[in-house]
Amino acid sequence: MDSNSTAIIVGGSHAAAQLAPSLRQEGWQGRILIISNEAYLPYHRPPLSKAYLSGEKDAESLLIRAAAFYDKANIEFMLEAHVDKIDRNAQLVTLSTGESLAYNKLALCTGSRVRQLPIDGTKLKGVHYLRDIADGNAIKADIKKNGMAVIIGGGYIGLETAALLRKTGMQVTVLETMERVLERVTAPEVGAFYSRVHSEEGVVIKTGVMASEIVGAERVKAVVCNTGEQVNADLVIIGIGVIPNTELAEVAGLAIDNGILVNEFAETNDPNIVAAGDCTNHPNQLLGRNIRLESVPNASEQAKSAAASMCGTKKAYSALPWFWSDQFDLKLQIAGLNQGYDQVIIRGDIENSRSFVAWYLKGGRLIAADCVNRVKEFMIAKQALAGLKTIDVAKLADESVEPKELVN
Ligand SMILES: Cc1cc2nc3c(=O)[nH]c(=O)nc-3n(C[C@H](O)[C@H](O)[C@H](O)COP(=O)(O)OP(=O)(O)OC[C@H]3O[C@@H](n4cnc5c(N)ncnc54)[C@H](O)[C@@H]3O)c2cc1C
Repeated sequence: MDSNSTAIIVGGSHAAAQLAPSLRQEGWQGRILIISNEAYLPYHRPPLSKAYLSGEKDAESLLIRAAAFYDKANIEFMLEAHVDKIDRNAQLVTLSTGESLAYNKLALCTGSRVRQLPIDGTKLKGVHYLRDIADGNAIKADIKKNGMAVIIGGGYIGLETAALLRKTGMQVTVLETMERVLERVTAPEVGAFYSRVHSEEGVVIKTGVMASEIVGAERVKAVVCNTGEQVNADLVIIGIGVIPNTELAEVAGLAIDNGILVNEFAETNDPNIVAAGDCTNHPNQLLGRNIRLESVPNASEQAKSAAASMCGTKKAYSALPWFWSDQFDLKLQIAGLNQGYDQVIIRGDIENSRSFVAWYLKGGRLIAADCVNRVKEFMIAKQALAGLKTIDVAKLADESVEPKELVN
């Protein structure tokens, strides 16, 4: 591509922050413009439910890269600008202001947005979702020592914010519709472990309970449950998952199936449009199937393939999925995806300690591992799952075997 070409990136978060500099590394000489509907340069989202809420980090320290980095790489931004439409034939994007911009190559890094809870009272003051810095600031303003916080949703975001609010001195209750927390993502043993630690730390967890209404005059006063119980609340955080932002792509006629469909090179069905991050449904060779992931490593790594494709180079993306979650003194690191597991092997005292590994197997083969305060086992699990080492399943539960002896 020559210096007169323009690359436009829609969305300015983890995927975009990697894609733009990768374009320069791949030799893109023309204009690079990131159009983001947020007010900030790309920032780390994970700390929003961790160190940002606690006040240990401020907005400046969340930035993925400093402004000077983008200036030096000649990467331009249009902040607080929303792309409303893509005209694929004319290779134009139209902003909500009506302004149109021409592209030679377009990257969709539109991510995902919070799933809304369809009950009354979610617009009351003191009721929040958590996706961006503005949400984080609004929650911080409502944190009051000894105040009552209710978290709706016992997934990772819900439990992380519960841990954080508890540490600030709030009384915290988590409401979870399923029979246990983390039901969709972990084995029952792991869910029970998190319930135990949260209750040891003073968080009240109510499972099998649905929030049916949030009540108050102007400000929230309580959450009403389907059981009739009312839980008093000064602050409510709703964390019930996200949905991919695919509408822009869909209206433009790109293929969609639980995300923007891309191949291993992050290419859509339009040769001039790639997509990366939370918004994509992509093939993973290691897993042998298509997946949509909500994680920072996925956004960053897929963005590198997308940048290469925009420059006419083929770099397949097929990384092992991995995630993390921080709650209290627990550092959870997850390698692989456990869907379809038929056996769980626990290493460590999951019932009494705060350190263990849950190995997930399918047909006797390791497919994932949840490692709590077990960095060595996490590294080993990653190597084994990536096919670099062979794991000895018979030794997995045996704590007398050193982690490095678990693999050949
Ligand atoms: C509180 C919280 C904690 C998390 N913790 C972890 C964690 O511990 N580990 C982990 O791996 N992941 C975590 N995640 C998930 C991780 O943040 C996401 O996977 C990651 O942000 C995805 O990056 P992305 O660039 O694909 O999309 P996003 O971060 O969703 O960004 C997309 C951006 O595009 C903008 N946009 C969308 N449409 C348009 C448009 N038409 N015009 C202009 N702009 C547009 C959006 O507003 C948004 O700013 C967490 C997320 C949250 C909210």
